[in-house]
Amino acid sequence: MLLFTPGPTPVPESVRVAMAGETLHHRTPEFEAIFERTRALLFELLGMDEVLMLASSGTGAMEAAVTNLTASKLLSINSGKFGERFGKIAQAHGIANVEIKHEWDTPATVEEVQAALNANPDIDAIAIQICESAGGLRHNVEAIAATVKAHNPSIMVIADGITAVGVEKIDITNIDCLISGSQKALMLPPGLAIIGLSNAAIEKIGKGKGYYFNLATEIKNQRKNTTAWTAATTITIGLESILNRIKDEGGLEKLYATTALRARATREAMEAIGLTIYPKSPADSMTTIGDHEAKKIRSLLQKEFEVNVAGGQDHIKDTIFRINHMGLISVYEAAWVVNSVELALASMGRRAFDGTASRIFNTVYFGL
Ligand SMILES: *Cc1c(COP(=O)(O)O)cnc(C)c1O
Repeated sequence: MLLFTPGPTPVPESVRVAMAGETLHHRTPEFEAIFERTRALLFELLGMDEVLMLASSGTGAMEAAVTNLTASKLLSINSGKFGERFGKIAQAHGIANVEIKHEWDTPATVEEVQAALNANPDIDAIAIQICESAGGLRHNVEAIAATVKAHNPSIMVIADGITAVGVEKIDITNIDCLISGSQKALMLPPGLAIIGLSNAAIEKIGKGKGYYFNLATEIKNQRKNTTAWTAATTITIGLESILNRIKDEGGLEKLYATTALRARATREAMEAIGLTIYPKSPADSMTTIGDHEAKKIRSLLQKEFEVNVAGGQDHIKDTIFRINHMGLISVYEAAWVVNSVELALASMGRRAFDGTASRIFNTVYFGL
């Protein structure tokens, strides 16, 4: 079965092997050396002034960012499940919150953000997804972050890049906190969250907030190549392995270029067989198709063609399906996925099979 869900993504065999060694104690020079090398690789990946690894799923990093970087009011962008989560985190901690809410296919605009900032002078942090994975849309984070900083440079910009870091080069010029996680573009098992911080963010964190997710405590420890609590040792070993593997396969720029090309080839192939791209501003991390028979298509893909793609959640649970592009994916696997979708449509009697999806995918991907 081909795992083509936008998280979890398949863990490459070389990484699984790297993680198969004996369990290391986390307070040893041996593990600290691994931690130090992994940290250096993360500085390259994120480009931020500081990086932290947290033993939690991605949501832990979202919570840490909100609690440590918001003092008066959070502006959160809700165009889907993950944007909604930022607001729920604020609520759970009694932090004042205003939200810009849209249908899950619609990104936020610069004008709306400007209006919210004008109406709420006490906003001191904004939280937004770079890619909102619920519908596979890309927010214009660069323009929104620039607008926020032009309005007031002390407002913290928190960018959830869990399905963007490792997919595309992120412009961090106006970002104070960049979040990543292990089980999406980084092709690892779940359980490790990553936070990149600007110097301004470090200053604002000060003594930090909370206990487990007190970022001041983590900064202090991680600068010494250790962690406040028990580190996710095995996944850290996997992280060093995958980041080196990406280097061996041509580096980040090549990964970004290949991912973008595969995403474009997939979108064009899907449109060529009459399917509709769901988000108004598609991200390159996944292709999301909006279709009233999405559930049936997914089920056929799984039963007949050994392809596992993701459905949606909540109100679009059965009306979208999402094809993953994150990670080191072989082109022959991606080509089989688009071909399978065409075969599924044929078996549903929607469209006679003529190989269009495959032809368009290959034409775009190989520049024929
Ligand atoms: C997966 C994901 C998360 C984190 O979810 P966890 O289940 O806590 O790892 C956060 N934001 C986005 C955009 C995601 O895709």
